[in-house]
Amino acid sequence: MANLESVWKEAEERLEQSLPSAKRQWFDRISYCGENDGKLILSLPSEFFRDNAEKSCGDEIRNTIEAIAEESIEVAFIVDSNAKPAARKKAASAKPQKAPEAPASKNTTLNKAYSFDNFIAGDNSSFAFNAAKVIAQNPGISYNPCLIYGGVGLGKTHLLQSIGNYIDEHNPKMKIIYVTAESFTNEFINSLSANQASAFKAKYRNVDVLLIDDIHFLQKKDQTQEELFHTFNELYDNHKQIVLTCDRPITELSDITDRLKTRFRKGLNVDLQPPAYETRVAIAMQKCRERNYSIDSKVLEYICQNIDTNIRDLEGALTTLSSFASLVGKPITIEIAREQLKNFIVSPAIRNNDITIDSIIRKTADYFNVTDYDIKGKSRNKNIILARHISIYLASKLTSYSLSEIGKSMNGKDHTTIMHSVDRIKSLLETDESIKTAVSAIESDLTGF
Ligand code: ADP
Ligand code: MG
Repeated sequence: MANLESVWKEAEERLEQSLPSAKRQWFDRISYCGENDGKLILSLPSEFFRDNAEKSCGDEIRNTIEAIAEESIEVAFIVDSNAKPAARKKAASAKPQKAPEAPASKNTTLNKAYSFDNFIAGDNSSFAFNAAKVIAQNPGISYNPCLIYGGVGLGKTHLLQSIGNYIDEHNPKMKIIYVTAESFTNEFINSLSANQASAFKAKYRNVDVLLIDDIHFLQKKDQTQEELFHTFNELYDNHKQIVLTCDRPITELSDITDRLKTRFRKGLNVDLQPPAYETRVAIAMQKCRERNYSIDSKVLEYICQNIDTNIRDLEGALTTLSSFASLVGKPITIEIAREQLKNFIVSPAIRNNDITIDSIIRKTADYFNVTDYDIKGKSRNKNIILARHISIYLASKLTSYSLSEIGKSMNGKDHTTIMHSVDRIKSLLETDESIKTAVSAIESDLTGF
């Protein structure tokens, strides 16, 4: 019989790496309690946590423990209000984990969670989406190579993986490799140091479909570029399908050899643009369905109106809200969403640079019942000094002016004085409720948030 405490320690480490953040809120409350008759006992601080932890990650915990111990071990979850959960590493990110519970494909480089069926195509993406489908239906024949480019979180990996999954399903004999340019590079380096360069070459030159994600990573990696150049030629000459993604158009890639750029530009280049509001709502609804989140449609609309940069942020917002809702056991209102999504949502006023230093001074002066002139001046009156510090703090937070520029607008104060004011308010914000109230009232007056 394995030592259960060490089995649990190892399981904890593995699960910290693999559990999606939505499950971490439950997992992080678990502590090791002991063993009894070969049974591993884990405790949670209340019934509420016990039930949710067991429901959300019980299976992963049992499977991981079994895999480590190489035998079946009974796991019991009990309530112990004094239990102190172990300090855990932070969840990988507040952003959603990529398709955490997706069943693995027989082709281990593919992630089955990404498919054409769960990609919502809008005007921003229909060209890329249709091209990807045509490629998947006729690999090596239609558009070869194909490059999908666009900003972060817009669905490049999703489309690339969908191509792989579609081919894998319809042409199971085809050899498909999905690889990020980063892994390709690391694998190449490792193969060199292990004297296995020929195995590396053979691996990548003997596929039917090569999907390389994020080729911008290859910038400045000369030897990897050289290797990819030969791999590319070999595959291309043999009519094997190559699909690449990049965060920008090839013409804007620097530090990539011209001959490789020329290869990338052959075939078809398609772009992904940020989705319009209606597409964002459709995607958000789809994500909620997939993940069983129940978020009111008014709140969904609020999120989609305010997060328009990319889908990854949209997903992050949905995960944050749904975790919050299950933790507090309350439905999400727009007010809660506004509060919880502060890190995701940038007010339109800030985004459009509508906030000026003068408008900050004016609002702060109003709040403290002093004049603009007082704030810009040299008075040592306590109330005025505080208003001055707050205006400076807000100017550094809400505008893109540098500290010296802010100093100039405050009747020529130097940049260390400005820095001092910013630091002063930052530290007061941590301790003083009345300052917090004042700052957030003036800020929301300025931003409309
Ligand atoms: P990129 O590779 O461009 O950075 P990803 O493909 O990783 O972006 O997309 C980020 C997240 O957004 C993924 O979870 C993906 O499933 C989702 N996503 C992006 N675009 C769409 C879309 N049009 N429909 C559904 N989900 C999308
Ligand atoms: Mg990607």
